[in-house]
Amino acid sequence: MQKRREIKHGKGSRKCRRCGTHHSVIRRSGLNICRRCIREVYKKIGFKKTGSRGG
Ligand SMILES: [Zn+2]
Repeated sequence: MQKRREIKHGKGSRKCRRCGTHHSVIRRSGLNICRRCIREVYKKIGFKKTGSRGG
């Protein structure tokens, strides 16, 4: 039996616009970045954390 390997993420797949990975890409607020990059971005933009402490 032959099984065609189909790609889960078809056309218009989500891709991190920072590193270009397809792993754990979250399009929050149209960011389209992976979790890893999100952390970096959040640090830059100053992501509001619950109960912000003086850093
Ligand atoms: Zn990334």
